[in-house]
Amino acid sequence: MSADPKGIVRLPQVEQLLQEPFLAPYIRRLSRPLVTDVIRKTLGKIRQRDNFRTEGISQDALFSSLESACLFLLNQRHARVINGTGTVVHTNLGRSPIDPALWDSVADVNTGYCNLEIKLSDGKRGQRKGIVSQLIGSLTGAEDALVVNNNAASVYLLLNELARGKEVIVSRGEQIQIGGGFRIPDILALAGAKLIEVGTTNITTADDYLNAVTENTAMILMVHCSNFVVRGFTESPDIKDVARRLPEHVILAVDQGSGLSTERFAANENPSSHYLRAGADLVCFSGDKILGGPQSGIICGKKELVKQLEKNPMMRAFRPGRMVYSILEELLVRKLNRTPEGQGVAEKAATGQQQIQQRAEQLAAALGDKVKLLPSQMLVGGGTLPDEFFPSWSLELQIDKPAEKIMADLRDMPLPVIGIIRNDRVQLNMAGILPRELPVLTEQLRSYLGV
Ligand SMILES: *Cc1c(COP(=O)(O)O)cnc(C)c1O
Repeated sequence: MSADPKGIVRLPQVEQLLQEPFLAPYIRRLSRPLVTDVIRKTLGKIRQRDNFRTEGISQDALFSSLESACLFLLNQRHARVINGTGTVVHTNLGRSPIDPALWDSVADVNTGYCNLEIKLSDGKRGQRKGIVSQLIGSLTGAEDALVVNNNAASVYLLLNELARGKEVIVSRGEQIQIGGGFRIPDILALAGAKLIEVGTTNITTADDYLNAVTENTAMILMVHCSNFVVRGFTESPDIKDVARRLPEHVILAVDQGSGLSTERFAANENPSSHYLRAGADLVCFSGDKILGGPQSGIICGKKELVKQLEKNPMMRAFRPGRMVYSILEELLVRKLNRTPEGQGVAEKAATGQQQIQQRAEQLAAALGDKVKLLPSQMLVGGGTLPDEFFPSWSLELQIDKPAEKIMADLRDMPLPVIGIIRNDRVQLNMAGILPRELPVLTEQLRSYLGV
């Protein structure tokens, strides 16, 4: 390119720019068409600048515009980050990390063909869920189970199949919104069911439910309040009482949410088995919250109802692929065998407080007076245990920069770090920092803090 000190008025060709060595790594990671598009758009914007015709643009400025546009796109690619937020099942950070041992053990089945829908015993067509329903049965006591892409799909499927055109009774205290745009009343309407509200925000009794039952009632749906708590004068019915007095034609379904099963750390949360034992016909929950598996929704309970759900035409749209089934199978086997890889990240963090403290002390020792070690708390999060805090440790960065700037610097690291601001200070909560991340985190922080 010409070295006119005023800058170049004639911009180079796209093809010529694609040869520039500084773009090679971006082409590798974004693809040539996407980088070509970035170049075209950047050149277009430069041409439209008011002063471009008179002043041109220097090569440095052009290259740096291109590089920052490529980087902006690259930052949107899915990439590992370190979770220093203290919320260990963080929906924005991908919820449950899959244990590397689980991941490795399903590589084989996923990189070749597999017996997804063929029976190896007789070569005939089989069903894709493998032994997942037996495993879930063993974990929860359910007769049968099915898996869909997420728990929102579970709720939709059970309403659409079992309550379409009929009434569904829901407590006023449980008409909740779970995350972005998933509201129980809306889902009911979309699934074609009619909402019958009972009780009040804080009190709903067994009689409230039972008095609302008509011959048109298909279901009572109880929804776990997974992202808030109602405190004070509250009452929810004894589910056993509702189940016992419920007419035959009404299905009792519980959206349990978190997927708590045999884990023992969450004393205030009822596991799915509790609801099934109390008489619920169906219970659904997420696979990637406390269970610790891949994104999925699990519906378990009465065999004939599960079979009916599986015949719904939407099942075709909601069924997961083999990656989900294989990881779920592996996780459940290990959970039932009580091996460490069968623990979800929430259980690992909530029961591993000593290890969290050790890692915090180790990191603090490596960083000297640039950090302050503080006792703190962690949350499971991601729509689970809204009010339960578990002990954790945090490192507060002791540097003289605005907290937002430090947060941005942390996100900008080779392995981005997501921290949290407390009292205008940046903290890294150790609960979500995985053991294998400690060396790289230590190195990154050393270099950032100049230790
Ligand atoms: C999290 C949650 C959902 C939604 O589950 P996804 O797996 O995120 O689709 C639905 N109901 C309850 C009670 C939940 O806690």
